Amino acid sequence: MKAEILGVNVDCLTMTQAVEQVDLLVKNKTPSIVATANAEMLMFANSDAELKKILNSAAIVTADGAGTVWAARHLGYEMPERVAGVDLVTNLFSKGYRFYFFGSAAGVADLAAENAAKKFNAKIVGTRNGFFTAEEIPKILDDINNSNAEILLAALGVPKQEKFLYNNLKNLNVPVNIGVGGTLDVLAGKVKRAPRWMQRAKLEWLFRALLQPSRAGRLLALPKFVYNVHKSRH
Ligand code: UDP
Repeated sequence: MKAEILGVNVDCLTMTQAVEQVDLLVKNKTPSIVATANAEMLMFANSDAELKKILNSAAIVTADGAGTVWAARHLGYEMPERVAGVDLVTNLFSKGYRFYFFGSAAGVADLAAENAAKKFNAKIVGTRNGFFTAEEIPKILDDINNSNAEILLAALGVPKQEKFLYNNLKNLNVPVNIGVGGTLDVLAGKVKRAPRWMQRAKLEWLFRALLQPSRAGRLLALPKFVYNVHKSRH
């Protein structure tokens, strides 16, 4: 089932089901996009028709964040739970897939790969930082394709990562391509996740804002999101 939130179709999946769906996509081998939609992304898509189109053409859009889960339920859908990108990725590590980490500042993807290998036994077959010119794209795609990765994690921020994946999908020989935002920063230990109790209290967004005050401005998207979702109900 899909929950339509501000014009974006978000999949109603448990974490277990999301992992199963990704399994199928890997086996299927047709390059596809997986997006992890939090309230900020849905607000972005609300005023960016291209991002909205990309999300609605993605194979899976998970409910990443308490805001998305709330919105789905408020609109009457049965959204079982939050499927955060970082949690989805760590669950997929244990499946033994070959990963390519693409994104973040210089050195971050390498550090994330080192940590993921140590902590989760993840198999990482290539890395590349997320800063590049248009001329460098063909070489980046070659490197990703030559790595024989099964899952590409693109951490270029929203909406850059979704647009990169969409525009280059026909030249990517990777079955599953996931936009993961700050996940490589988290894996590299550059950004901390909220403690468990804050995640449970649905306050991870607050933790992130306090830790990275530069992001605090983005919090304004949240009340706007709540308002727009509520308005769309009527
Ligand atoms: N980033 C990148 N290339 C860019 C812009 C950003 O690789 O041109 C990276 C940045 O270093 C960070 C990530 O993209 O690691 C964005 O993280 P953020 O937590 O802001 O993700 P979002 O909230 O946008 O999903």
